[in-house]
Amino acid sequence: MSTMVIGYDVEDRTGSDITRRFLSKASELHAELQAPATLFLVGITAENNVEAIQRAKEEAPFELGSHNYSHILLKTLCQVKGDGIVEIAQGGSLGQLVAEVDKANTVLEREFGVKCRAFCSPWGYYRGISDRPDLLHLLHVAGIRVMRTWMRNAQDWIPVDYDVQPFFYEPQGFPDMLEVPVTVRHDCNWPVHYGFEPQEYANPQEFLDYLRSELDYLHERDWLYNAAQHDTTTIEYDPDMVIMRGLIEHARRIGMEVMNFTQYYDKMRASKQ
Ligand SMILES: [Zn+2]
Repeated sequence: MSTMVIGYDVEDRTGSDITRRFLSKASELHAELQAPATLFLVGITAENNVEAIQRAKEEAPFELGSHNYSHILLKTLCQVKGDGIVEIAQGGSLGQLVAEVDKANTVLEREFGVKCRAFCSPWGYYRGISDRPDLLHLLHVAGIRVMRTWMRNAQDWIPVDYDVQPFFYEPQGFPDMLEVPVTVRHDCNWPVHYGFEPQEYANPQEFLDYLRSELDYLHERDWLYNAAQHDTTTIEYDPDMVIMRGLIEHARRIGMEVMNFTQYYDKMRASKQ
């Protein structure tokens, strides 16, 4: 059965009420549809919203994962934009990253009693962290077993080819660590590539029709749909969450299973044995 996994990056660090508004809407939707999802929390954001996260976790079938403590990148990006201009986004040093990952996990355990197993890297990278066994080791020691880090192509840009499908980091020596790449458009790319500027689609409902066609395409091939959305972008572009509701309902209509990251990990592990 093909699968849709849902992961929200919860990362507003401005001190505004964006995260709380998002959590309230997302809980309502996921509770109503009984649809599992993973909240990948930036540690700082989690510390600023402890009660709202606790409530969301009680109301809806959410699991909590890590999006690093202060959103430091695991790898440096050299993004080649459409006009050929290269932009650099700096990754953290190994020492910084050890501290980041541990600090984020400590927040999850201290505030919510969660031993973190799921990780979403800030920004995402070409080939995930296939080329960085040192980072795999760092995350493995921290207890991470399922991650989404492959979210960019060879230009360090989006999209990733649809046939880049989940895999275990076996050749790197970590056969119990699963990569879950994102191949579909993330919400932060909606406005740039397909969304509301330059007005290719007039509203979330129209854009949803495009996303449904992606869902159909992946389902026909028994490939994964990895839905990646953010607290910030959701509130900015689709505060009523028309798109996520439509995706979940459509996925179920065509016979896809909806899961969070740990559930998907367990399913993949079981099918491996
Ligand atoms: Zn992020």
